Amino acid sequence: VPGILLVEDDDDLREVMADALLADGHDVHAVGTAAAALDALAGGAFSLVLLDVGLGPGPDGVEICRRLRVTDAGVYVTMLTARDTEADIVMALEAGADDYVTKPVGIAELRSRVRAALRRADRPTDTDRDVLARGLLAVDASARSATAADQPLSLTMSEFGVLEALVRADGRVLSREKLIATIFEDDAYRDPRAIDVHVHHLRDKIGKAGGDAGQIVTVRGVGYRLDA
Ligand code: CA
Repeated sequence: VPGILLVEDDDDLREVMADALLADGHDVHAVGTAAAALDALAGGAFSLVLLDVGLGPGPDGVEICRRLRVTDAGVYVTMLTARDTEADIVMALEAGADDYVTKPVGIAELRSRVRAALRRADRPTDTDRDVLARGLLAVDASARSATAADQPLSLTMSEFGVLEALVRADGRVLSREKLIATIFEDDAYRDPRAIDVHVHHLRDKIGKAGGDAGQIVTVRGVGYRLDA
């Protein structure tokens, strides 16, 4: 089972985080520089990348995530952001992260986030095919793939989670909180506004694939629904 890549340039913090994850039985590869992170990502597959934004010399975590997404939409990326401002969170998610954790990182929160991420990343895919469609959109829950107007969509796990939940809701409105709880299987510590960024990316990818980005309807003050 591919493990966790932890990228954090603060030696003490990296050690504390790695120790906590190792104690939970995870396979952790911890690195402290952007160069080592790029090497590790080029050399192997990981289920989860915990990626600090501020890394000293070289590309920062946001840029590393952006580069990673060019080749790999599927790996689960959780950004570690230093500040809890909306701009920082949006920047991390805009780069293609599935989720984010703000510093100082509490160990209980970290362990909870990692469990949720790995549940999503390691979800079995050898079950019967389970293809659901609505309008021009189709999702295959077992293969974790999706199409718009029969064109494949390259989605992150969080984007796929949002789309799958909306298709399953069959036109019913889902609140941001409900979407958070559905895609992460827990709603601890998360900001529902993160959903807005994932939806923004989804609409963009659906439109570029030749689908109808307007199928995902914003229901003001509530959340989202999917038109047929
Ligand atoms: Ca740092």
